[in-house]
Amino acid sequence: MDTNALRQAPFGSVLTDSMSITWFRDGKWLPERLEPTAPLPIHPAAHALHYSSSCFEGFKAYRRADGGIHIFRLDRHIERFRRSAKLLVLPEPDSEQVSRMVLSLVDRCRRDVPDAPGALYLRPVLFGTVPNIGAAGTPTPEACLVVLASPVWDYFAGGFKPLRIAVELSSRTAPHLGMVKTGGNYAAALGPTLAARREYRADQVLFCPDGKVQETGAANFLLIRDQHILTRGLDTTFLHGVTRDSALTLARDLGYEVSERIFDIDETLRWITDGEAVLSGTAAVLAGVGTLIHQGRDYRVGTGDVGPLTKHLRAALIAIQRGEAPDKFGWLTPV
Ligand SMILES: *Cc1c(COP(=O)(O)O)cnc(C)c1O
Repeated sequence: MDTNALRQAPFGSVLTDSMSITWFRDGKWLPERLEPTAPLPIHPAAHALHYSSSCFEGFKAYRRADGGIHIFRLDRHIERFRRSAKLLVLPEPDSEQVSRMVLSLVDRCRRDVPDAPGALYLRPVLFGTVPNIGAAGTPTPEACLVVLASPVWDYFAGGFKPLRIAVELSSRTAPHLGMVKTGGNYAAALGPTLAARREYRADQVLFCPDGKVQETGAANFLLIRDQHILTRGLDTTFLHGVTRDSALTLARDLGYEVSERIFDIDETLRWITDGEAVLSGTAAVLAGVGTLIHQGRDYRVGTGDVGPLTKHLRAALIAIQRGEAPDKFGWLTPV
């Protein structure tokens, strides 16, 4: 696909011609296969369609200037995929098989891995297939696991647009399911997000049940100022982002003090008078927040633009992803 077409395509809307697939039957995973990307034969009574037994992952493969291709933090993503499956009582994917599926798919689609600042976004998805509409209270004994690949361009190719983020006091999901990358959580976040879009022209909402800051619909939330980062400490209520972990690891290495703890909206509003606020996730890496909207009022974050520390951390992280800086933490898997 040529670069111009890719630039125009919305994130995730273009898929490669091949996908990798396996099925869980009779208590074991079948050998995986590379197949043409195409609709699957799914029974309308399939468990996932009725009872949301599904989870997914998202990460990227990057092409270097010398043509080499590397996947960013593959092991971490596979680990999280397995944990999501376990918490939803789905058949657990086999780490080595998923790794093989990803590597063989990227190898098959080598030509589709875009040059920088593009990447190949990888999307494993696992879902329960047993055709039984009476199985609401029973785990699915059958499942399908597919790995899709999607060439994507830089999220910020058109420049850094500071985000408008609306504070939302409701919950994104049930407190024990926040750490699971499962479809229902996104459906649950959609209503409040669309409402905030209509009402406040917000790009995303920041879920803050009981006034405690959690995360947005699909990204973690960090506060940054000179030599200091504040973000919520890991608990079951929100998704443990690999980008979050990478940014914190990198920041510590750069001499930042990193605080991981519960904090509330008031502390956030104080912080942003002269600090920066950021969303972290695989798609955009780090995205600067320009405005927080709380109780119908706009609060400017710093100067209202994407801050220098955000830009610096983002550039440092991307340099590692693209092999332009040494892989000092061992985050890259060559394909
Ligand atoms: C995927 C996701 C993130 C970001 O995770 P990364 O591993 O950094 O991509 C954050 N929050 C939610 C709800 C997510 O689904």
